[in-house]
Amino acid sequence: MADLRPVEVLIPADAIQRRVAELAAGIHRDFPDGVHLIAVLKGAFIFMADLVRSLEGKVSLDFIAVSSYAKGTTSSGEVRMLKDLDYALDGKDVVIVEDIVDTGITLSYLKEILKARNPRTLRTACLLSKPSRRQVEVPVEYIGFTVEDRFVVGYGLDYAEQYRNLPHIAVVGPA
Ligand code: 5GP
Repeated sequence: MADLRPVEVLIPADAIQRRVAELAAGIHRDFPDGVHLIAVLKGAFIFMADLVRSLEGKVSLDFIAVSSYAKGTTSSGEVRMLKDLDYALDGKDVVIVEDIVDTGITLSYLKEILKARNPRTLRTACLLSKPSRRQVEVPVEYIGFTVEDRFVVGYGLDYAEQYRNLPHIAVVGPA
């Protein structure tokens, strides 16, 4: 595959910041007594960091790591758990914090294993959604932006471990 690099800003940094604050307000409205957030590493780490700083009230955190894309830009359809949670979920109001829902395979796998741990509620916040790519129907309660079927990087999302540090979301193209 040709080397890819960011070629076009799709969502500027200030638009992301505004939208993340809106999502945080929505989560707080729905869970005024507090939430337990679970970020899916590594892609969601920046979204998590901004979301948590916008959230009022009681917030606890945990992290889980799964891998679905080996390298490249297409899904392998296989999900592996790389790092499990540190804390139990019994009776907690849990929000999964994900970077992007594409085919839906990763999120539906995660929801299945986390539901089995008896949270009181289990919802999902995704910064980005690519609905045209969905193979598995999976509800997402808090969506930042709907994007077309283009491979994006930045704000935590990588291409071959690069570009996570961009403050905006960019589309990649041939270098
Ligand atoms: P799904 O299982 O929904 O197909 O894929 C979810 C995961 O694939 C995301 O958490 C993300 O890591 C990766 N992914 C899907 N689309 C993109 C994309 O456009 N850019 C990047 N960097 N990762 C993506």
